[in-house]
Amino acid sequence: PPRRLAVGLGERGYEVVVGPGLLARAGGLIAPVLPARRVVVVSDAAVAPLHLPALREGLAAAEVKVLAEIAVPPGEASKDFARLQDVLEAMLAAGLDRRTAVVALGGGVVGDLAGFAAAVAMRGVPFVQVPTTLLAQVDSSVGGKTGVNLRAGKNLAGAFHQPRIVLADTDTLATLPPRELRAGYAEVAKHGLLQGPLWDWCERHGAEVIAGDAAALTHAVLESCRLKGAIVAADEREESAEGGRALLNLGHTFGHAIEAEAGFDGSVLHGEAVAVGLGLAAALSARLGHCSQEWPSRVIAHLAACGLPARLADLPRRFALEGLMGRMAKDKKNRDGAMRFVLMRAPGDCFTSSEVPPEAVAALLRDEG
Ligand code: NAD
Ligand code: ZN
Repeated sequence: PPRRLAVGLGERGYEVVVGPGLLARAGGLIAPVLPARRVVVVSDAAVAPLHLPALREGLAAAEVKVLAEIAVPPGEASKDFARLQDVLEAMLAAGLDRRTAVVALGGGVVGDLAGFAAAVAMRGVPFVQVPTTLLAQVDSSVGGKTGVNLRAGKNLAGAFHQPRIVLADTDTLATLPPRELRAGYAEVAKHGLLQGPLWDWCERHGAEVIAGDAAALTHAVLESCRLKGAIVAADEREESAEGGRALLNLGHTFGHAIEAEAGFDGSVLHGEAVAVGLGLAAALSARLGHCSQEWPSRVIAHLAACGLPARLADLPRRFALEGLMGRMAKDKKNRDGAMRFVLMRAPGDCFTSSEVPPEAVAALLRDEG
């Protein structure tokens, strides 16, 4: 049976529904939270043939009318202003009005693009997330951040637009390439380290998640959304200087630098960069005396056991120290020019710091790389 979680975000809060078989029931699940039984579905060309038929039937079963099915090319390049205009024009041409909802069926790319389209179409129409990657189910579909990339950087144009409901159908993950599933798991491990008991669960059940076990996936997604929902609800617009949404950047200062240095060429997936970032964040925390020496090895061992790179040396290529340091110095999450890291004392006890000496970071990268 599906599990349901209420998150206190947006004007009225919303539910995250997690479990198998949700596409077939989508109409009945979404109709109660929509102003009208009328939607446009946005997907990508890889996901649509796999999962749109089941969603279409699930919507029809509750007499939810689909005005248009819009598929963008798969991949990060679709998070683009020109593509956004195409999607908006297609929606309006199909007869979208203020009471028509936008349903995003796909990974984080589709969720961010379709969510931004919903935020700006006629100054905002209702939005539904139907995430089909583990990353989207445990991370991007909850929290309300939507947007596209600019030449100046990723996610630099966007809006906060919370969904009316999130349907995380764990069955859709069966068609996901295993590497994408593992990459999404890095965000589950991150949530575990932020939350505590979820980390213990990960150490015991991570392998089942990676193997695609339905019960394990449901637990991982639900607990991730519970943690992210609670953190975001306390800091919906990322205004808190310490703590709040910034904590979700655990492993990401390093991870973003690795991704940027790799040039977003697909050689290192976001989740893989984050996994290495988690290992480095734990190692940095230990070096600075915040946590015991035991934690870096445990974090690294668990991620490695789940088939993820956990150290710089596990990545398919080497990165120059100056390159990584330069990227971190320019991270958009920095305040007043200082590098900002999320550090850990233990799982469940993490904090942000802008006081990490750059020399300590450089020494760590030199020793690790
Ligand atoms: P993605 O959407 O590109 O999906 C990865 C690949 O998997 C794509 O090729 C896609 O076509 C394919 N795919 C998706 N679902 C599938 C399925 N069920 N079966 C087979 N193939 C499937 O990437 P992603 O990792 O889901 O998301 C990454 C994006 O999410 C980035 O743009 C990132 O910036 C964004 N993001 C947003 C937030 C947020 O809060 N809004 C948070 C984290 C990440
Ligand atoms: Zn991430």
